[in-house]
Amino acid sequence: MKNRSSLNRRQVIAAATAFTAHSAISGVRAEQLLDSQIREKAQVAITFDLEMSRHYPKRGQTEWDYQKGNLDAATKQYSLEAGDIAAKRGISIHFFAVGRVLEQANIDWLKTLSKQGHAIGNHTYDHINVLAATAEQTQFRFQRAPWLVEGKSVHDVIRENIKMTQVALRKRAGIKQNGFRTPGGFYKALDEREDLQKLMLELGFQWISCKYPSHKSERTDTGVSTEVYADIVRAQQYAQPYRYPSGLIEIPMSPISDVTAFRSRFWKLPEFLKSIEMSVSWTIKEQAVFDFLCHPSCLVVEDPKHEALKLICDLVESASNRAEIVSLDKIAATVADKDS
Ligand SMILES: [Zn+2]
Repeated sequence: MKNRSSLNRRQVIAAATAFTAHSAISGVRAEQLLDSQIREKAQVAITFDLEMSRHYPKRGQTEWDYQKGNLDAATKQYSLEAGDIAAKRGISIHFFAVGRVLEQANIDWLKTLSKQGHAIGNHTYDHINVLAATAEQTQFRFQRAPWLVEGKSVHDVIRENIKMTQVALRKRAGIKQNGFRTPGGFYKALDEREDLQKLMLELGFQWISCKYPSHKSERTDTGVSTEVYADIVRAQQYAQPYRYPSGLIEIPMSPISDVTAFRSRFWKLPEFLKSIEMSVSWTIKEQAVFDFLCHPSCLVVEDPKHEALKLICDLVESASNRAEIVSLDKIAATVADKDS
């Protein structure tokens, strides 16, 4: 990999610069293009955020906003099924767990996933918004019960919420956390928040998954338009990993997420699968990165037969040696390897 990087680096830079100069789309980062052009194989990650999602399993169910980690039985069963499907194909899923999950009576299912070789990352204890302006605004729970964060700064809450999850995973389940994903995705990532980049580094993370690029997603009575599908493929170039100036590595989430498609826009499953197929095909062609983002609490209702997971596995398998399914730490290692 290094040989290829150094041999072709000048040509790659020239190609990336030319592409940027002639691109009709502004704001393309040369560094992101370099990342994708140097990679030997496309890297596809399958990530499941272990939390309850509002409006699931039924519309109007919003109490989960306060109890994100109180997973219902169906969500846990779905996660186990996905873990089995992946394990039988010899691949691993990257899960991100909300720490309050570790308060539940039985967490054998989470231990099983870890023993199967799936990565388990940190998704904060309460599913907090790291960009909130005040401690209370970081979570609905703290708006209802402000005494829980009284006298604390936003940084205090973030630090405690992340550390508590790390400790809970280790003490209750014997799991060593693998990376961090922010609750919610932000199209500007932490680009303008050097303070938070430094906080993540201080907490021991070499990479995080925070960015979710903006894209069209509307659906009309006639379905999802060609224009919307094309815009989601266009957005993939903004979902490529990069390094912040602080040194922290960002691995964005790739659109379209399940909650954006199903919860916000009322997509149907075949439309979601079509968008995945187009985006993964682009990723394989460009030797880029695709970080599939979903929530078992949503997909257990919308995709009960795990068709999205199976489709991604099939697409990568049919690309043989041009693509691989990896966990996010492997994607981060590839970015770090390129820089070294
Ligand atoms: Zn989340």
